[in-house]
Amino acid sequence: MLRIKLAKSLGFCSGVSRAINIAESVLNKEKGKIYSLGSIIHNHEEINRLRLKGLINVKSLDEVQDHSCVILPSHGSPRYIIESARKKKLKLIDVTCPYVSHVHKICKKLYTDKFIVIIIGDRHHPEVKALIDLAPGAIIIESQKDILENQFSYKKVGIISQTTQSKEKFFSIVGSILRKNHNIQEVHIFNTICLDTSRRQEEVKELARAVDRLVVIGSRTSANTKRLLALGRRVNKKTFLAEKDNAALLKHLKGAALIGIISGASAPRWLVDRIIKKIKER
Ligand code: SF4
Repeated sequence: MLRIKLAKSLGFCSGVSRAINIAESVLNKEKGKIYSLGSIIHNHEEINRLRLKGLINVKSLDEVQDHSCVILPSHGSPRYIIESARKKKLKLIDVTCPYVSHVHKICKKLYTDKFIVIIIGDRHHPEVKALIDLAPGAIIIESQKDILENQFSYKKVGIISQTTQSKEKFFSIVGSILRKNHNIQEVHIFNTICLDTSRRQEEVKELARAVDRLVVIGSRTSANTKRLLALGRRVNKKTFLAEKDNAALLKHLKGAALIGIISGASAPRWLVDRIIKKIKER
């Protein structure tokens, strides 16, 4: 008989849940058009649900009329966005996760105190772009190959991380930076990977070991979902991404006796429940 083992981490993290609650209340209360600059969170299905409630997604503030109401994403925005919004007299609703704002403060302080800021993360991710804006000239390290010998000789260095990186990668990159740069005078290391991310990463490895198929629910545009998928696959090759309750997923699960299910931090609980129901029906 098919059994399903559910992870404790299912549905939104606290930061995403807060962002969605604020967006919903704005959609209910505000009159006129409500825009979001990019995706508030990285999940197509949830964004689609908000779109049906009237949220208009735009790529740039140029697409928005003066005095409109605009929701900024949970992963933070560069300062030039806030400045151009002021010029257009927009009503801004900033749903940046409080933990991301905390990382902004650390980044700003390092820059003000004249540290070379090193960000371990994906240079194309909006969260990292917002950090670069706070610390112009920051060095982005995406992988081991970005670390050079004696790049930071006799300098003060501050290292932070994108909130959704994996702990293993963060500490291994920090180790390599220090090994290759013996002459660094002062180094401040902040493990800014958020707690929810770390918890899910631990859980996905445990779950992957215990089951014969693993399903990670979330969107392929979500950094933390992609990380869970990669960590799960490292332990169990039969780890699959479920963006929705489609037939392809059920094909992968055929013949399984024990299926594990976990979700990324931006996957809504209603979607998780729908996928679980579909698996049980089959
Ligand atoms: S994953 Fe962490 S940092 Fe990102 S929104 Fe959720 S709580 Fe905030």
